[in-house]
Order: sequence, then structure tokens, then C-alpha cells
Amino acid sequence: MKFKYAVILLCFLLFSCKKSNETKKITNENAQIVVSIPNFNADSAFGYIATQVGFGPRVPSTKGHVQCGDYLIKLFEKYGCQLEIQSFSMTTFDDKSHKCRNIMGKINPNATKRILLASHWDSRPFADQEKDMKTQKVPIDGANDGASGVGVLIEIARTIQNSSQKPNIGIDFLLFDIEDYGQPEFSDLPERQNSWCLGSQYWAANKGNYTANYGVLLDMVGGKNATFAQEGTSIYFANDIVQKVWNTAARAGYSHIFINQQVDQITDDHVFVNSIAKIPMVDIIEYDNSDGVFFANTWHTQNDNLQNIDKSTLKAVGQTLLNLIYLE
Ligand SMILES: [Zn+2]
Repeated sequence: MKFKYAVILLCFLLFSCKKSNETKKITNENAQIVVSIPNFNADSAFGYIATQVGFGPRVPSTKGHVQCGDYLIKLFEKYGCQLEIQSFSMTTFDDKSHKCRNIMGKINPNATKRILLASHWDSRPFADQEKDMKTQKVPIDGANDGASGVGVLIEIARTIQNSSQKPNIGIDFLLFDIEDYGQPEFSDLPERQNSWCLGSQYWAANKGNYTANYGVLLDMVGGKNATFAQEGTSIYFANDIVQKVWNTAARAGYSHIFINQQVDQITDDHVFVNSIAKIPMVDIIEYDNSDGVFFANTWHTQNDNLQNIDKSTLKAVGQTLLNLIYLE
């Protein structure tokens, strides 16, 4: 008890001069220490999403893809992250070969306790959830599917660099390439197994001695009225981390967004991080079963654009992750 109050007093003395809107004091799960946690700025995260969309679709082997990758690398450099770029070639279901990059930015590279935060930075070459055949062949903006998760991660990197409080652990931001080039239903080519998540499959098989205590994957984390349910593969491999993340969200006031519901398994990058890299990873991914499909109705359509990005969803996800990082 004595220790607890001593720490509280120390925190008060250290941080009482800071502007109240910069950080929030919060006790950890065991209520033993008080930690000062920076605020997540959803406007800034939205800006990073808009810039990614501004490059055009980030489809492998296009100019927009190369330019956006270069831009993300520069941002990690700017925010003081140590870079690890994994360049590789990948052949997709249509027998095209693409130059790809998995991009990692590390904070506290020498810390032994580490969290891996991931998202995919490519966007889908098709809009195969559209009804019209012609529209199906047009690449999507991918504002939510891809850019939203990346925007949240870059904003976390920026926030940590600009904050006087630093996390005690190492953080690795990992942006997977070529997640969303999976074989569409309209394809008349022979069915190709595992045609999705090619970047994470490559990374998991070629990660060297990299490891982390656990990981969190973000995918489609900026939708309007979004909810995030506890996804089956995450529960199977990393239920303790699922409970930790959902409890952290609830304690931050986001239990209406991070809902207490267990749902089906989906194929996403975390499957390969769990099964091949053997790092327990959970997926925060929008769940909307209103039309019988797991995902929101903008998924893989031309409506996955900036107009359908909601800053309050970005805030819920970004603040939950910052709280998670600072409470470790
Ligand atoms: Zn997708």
C-alpha cells in the first residue's frame, strides 16, 4: 500500500505541470501503479489515411504502391524508428510476379519485452463485392481495408516520439505487403490455395530470430459505427491476449466498440504469424454480420473510401493500443 501511494505521489509531481489534454493518468490492471498515457490524436491518424489514399490504389506493381511504401518508410524514420525492410518477389494467383516490401519500424530496439503491432499496407486490386462486373475490375481506395490500420500505427509512432513519457517495452510496427491480392470469385483460373496474406506468409517463414511476446493485428479499424468482436483464430492461439486487449478497451470506455462476443475464424495475416512464426497474435478487425458476411458492407467495394472513415473508431482503437503499450 505504501509503495502504491509513493508512486502515485511521484507521478503527480512529475506530470502535474503538463497540460491536462496531453496525457491521461490511469492505473494498471492490478491498481498498483499509475501511468501517464498520451492521448491518441484521431485527426492526425486520419491525415495519414488520406495521404495513403492520395497515392491511388496501393496495388503491387503500380506506381502508387511504390510511392506509398517509400512514404511509410520515411515516416518511420522521421518518428525515430529503427527500420528493417524485407524486400521479396511474390507470384500471385494470376501468375504475375511482384516486387514487395514488408516494412518494420522498431522503438526501443534493444528491449527484450516486445509487442508486435501489424497491419497491411497494400490495397485490393479488385472490388469483387460489387454486383456490377465492370465495377468489380476497378481497384478500390482501401481507405479502411489497409490504410486505416497503417494510419493508426503511424500515429502511435508519432505520439510516442513526441511524448515525454516513453513506454518501458519495445514496440515493433510491421506493415505487411500483398495481403489483399487473393484470388477473387470471378477468376476462372484454377483455384490457388493460400492466395491471400502473401506478405505475412513470407515474413513468418523468413523472420530470422525475430520474436515478440505477443502481437496485435489491425485490419479495417476505421469504419463508421464499427464493432470489433473476438475472432476465432485469435481466441484459439492467444485467448489471454484477446482478453487483455478487450479489457483494456473496456477500461478506456470502449466496450460498445470492442464487444464481448466470440465469432468465427477468418483468414488474415495473424493466422500465419500464429501458425508459422509462433508469435501469439490477435486480430482487431471490423465485425458486421448484418448481411451474413463477417465484414462491413463497404468491404471490397468502391465505398471503401475516405467518406466512410470515422475518426471516433480510429480513436477507440488507437487509444486502446496506447493504453496497452503504456500499461505493460
Ligand atoms: Zn481486404
